[in-house]
Amino acid sequence: MRSVRLCVLASGSSGNCLWVEAGGTRILIDAGLPLRETARRCTHAGISLRDVTDVFLTHEHADHASGAGVLARKLGVRVHATRGTWRELRDPPPEKLRHTLRPGTPLQIGALRIVPLAVPHDAREPVAYVFEEGPLRAALVTDLGCAPRPVVRALQDLDALVLEMNHDLGMLLDGPYPWSLKQRVRSDHGHLSNEQGAKLLSQVLHSGLRHLVLAHLSEHNNTPGRARREAEAVLSRFGTSTSLVLGSHSRPLDPVELEPCRPAVALRRARQLALFA
Ligand SMILES: [Zn+2]
Ligand SMILES: [Zn+2]
Repeated sequence: MRSVRLCVLASGSSGNCLWVEAGGTRILIDAGLPLRETARRCTHAGISLRDVTDVFLTHEHADHASGAGVLARKLGVRVHATRGTWRELRDPPPEKLRHTLRPGTPLQIGALRIVPLAVPHDAREPVAYVFEEGPLRAALVTDLGCAPRPVVRALQDLDALVLEMNHDLGMLLDGPYPWSLKQRVRSDHGHLSNEQGAKLLSQVLHSGLRHLVLAHLSEHNNTPGRARREAEAVLSRFGTSTSLVLGSHSRPLDPVELEPCRPAVALRRARQLALFA
């Protein structure tokens, strides 16, 4: 039977890494932890880093990409990134293991179809990702200052969503960051606040969204309670039975298993496909 398995191994400004598995295909999105720590967290979550064949980078910032070069050299994994990310990457993988992505152009890796989406962030050519296996759809959307319409459109009809809720705006403005950094974080090329994350959630929420992970929470400018409250307010307004967990910088989350497919959604998707045929 078809299924997609997700495991948030790390989330936050000290390192980001997401395991995605479907039909024997195993990939990582981002590699922001040292190799040994990535392997340790995989073991903790009951998966093996040695099974990974490909790593997809969202952008060049160290909390997402610092481990990519070592992963490629030690384990021989292919690394996928945009042209802009390659240009800025401090420790790139060997040339033969690099693959260049184009935002908006899907890629098939084994059972998984992976779609990079351009997002606004203070990096050279950052992307978020939607990954699909048959009718199952999930997405990782972090490190963006706002959500342009094409991003909102691409996030419809998801089964699982890993969504940035970086900061509480009041805490950011009253907090310890220098003024210039505060302005950068809250700009359209910074990070989503709890409020912005909640708004994006309300634009993509539907009854089939089964899992929501709040991600990339700031340790200085947010609290798990504030982020959770913003998300719960949206979920209860819509009355969905979506499970809600918060990503952690210090430990992996329990893996989430997605399985097909509610008949109503299958029917709706079939209708949509018929419309576009
Ligand atoms: Zn980041
Ligand atoms: Zn970033």
